[in-house]
Amino acid sequence: MKDGIIDKITNKDLRLIADKVVRGIPVSEADALFMLDTNDILELGLIADALRTSLHGDIAYYEVNMNLNYTNVCELRCPLCAFSRAEGDAGAFTLGLDEIEDKVRQADSFGIDEVHIVGGLNPKLKIEYFEEMLRRIKNVNPDIFIVAFTAVEYDYFARLNGLPLEDVFVRMKNAGLGALPGGGAEVFSPKLREMIAPRKIPGKRWLEVMRVAHSLGLKTNATLLYNHMETSGDVVDHLSQIRALQDETGGFKTFVPLPYHDARTEIRARRTQTTGFGDVRLFAASRIFLHNVPHLKSLWMYLGEKMAQLLLRFGVDDLGGTYHYEKVVHSAGATTADAGSESHLRRLIEHAGLRPVRAAANYEMRRGQ
Ligand code: SF4
Repeated sequence: MKDGIIDKITNKDLRLIADKVVRGIPVSEADALFMLDTNDILELGLIADALRTSLHGDIAYYEVNMNLNYTNVCELRCPLCAFSRAEGDAGAFTLGLDEIEDKVRQADSFGIDEVHIVGGLNPKLKIEYFEEMLRRIKNVNPDIFIVAFTAVEYDYFARLNGLPLEDVFVRMKNAGLGALPGGGAEVFSPKLREMIAPRKIPGKRWLEVMRVAHSLGLKTNATLLYNHMETSGDVVDHLSQIRALQDETGGFKTFVPLPYHDARTEIRARRTQTTGFGDVRLFAASRIFLHNVPHLKSLWMYLGEKMAQLLLRFGVDDLGGTYHYEKVVHSAGATTADAGSESHLRRLIEHAGLRPVRAAANYEMRRGQ
């Protein structure tokens, strides 16, 4: 990063942080706490944007993909979750393999690059179901990149099938797995986890599962669920643990902060919505603190398209995907905003003064450069 940036910063604490960033020194936890609290978001943004530019130039990524939720039946029924159902509940579903293949085939006809798969912990679904799912997707189109199953699901697959975690990953890789999403991390604080997801694997186990995935050459995302009951200290602890594992493995490709939405959950967040300043501070601080994680993603579905776009100048280099399957719902009469079309994502990036590049989750398959 160019050192001219330091001269533009008047806030003395942010100057010190910029100085560390320019010299390639990881910023401290105290620096992160400061960044999460500062009102000088424009100067904070200067540092985060300069760092993004040094990593990615004028490129910002987006994906053309579909979302696949294979079941919402889940043993854990986390208080934070509005998605899960018990077996037999109204609205409970589990997709058959033919149904999955049909959905992927339909989305593939629109030209998707990637399928993003997550679901509940359903004891009826054994490992063969997942292997066959991935094989069938590859059979539809071998070029589709598969991002599948959270660390929570992999831990469950291993226990349910009596298999070592390594074997589960190897079998999934052989069936077509490309990378892992970053869900299930939530926030690592044991105290908070006890409140929002008491039966979910602890943060230490989430990190351990990721360590194993990374050791087998699988790249993964990492998420942070924020805007519930966390303090800035909890956020910094979470970022620190991700940074430490990344120093060890280098396997995290993207960090994805997710603002919590509490509608229809058992948890009522203290804040119903994030604030603009809160989002900006969190993303910019994450970009600067996680110097060793190459990409930072703002998901427009969670943040709203305007905030997601704005964050492209506060450290973000990836606007997320089209989630093309939703296009099918829109075609069938859904009236929600058509925010996820490829042309709209490109426009959002271009209006931020950046160059849109269509990529799959590995950032290797690129179009439009
Ligand atoms: S494990 Fe995931 S799907 Fe299951 S209840 Fe918890 S958040 Fe929902």
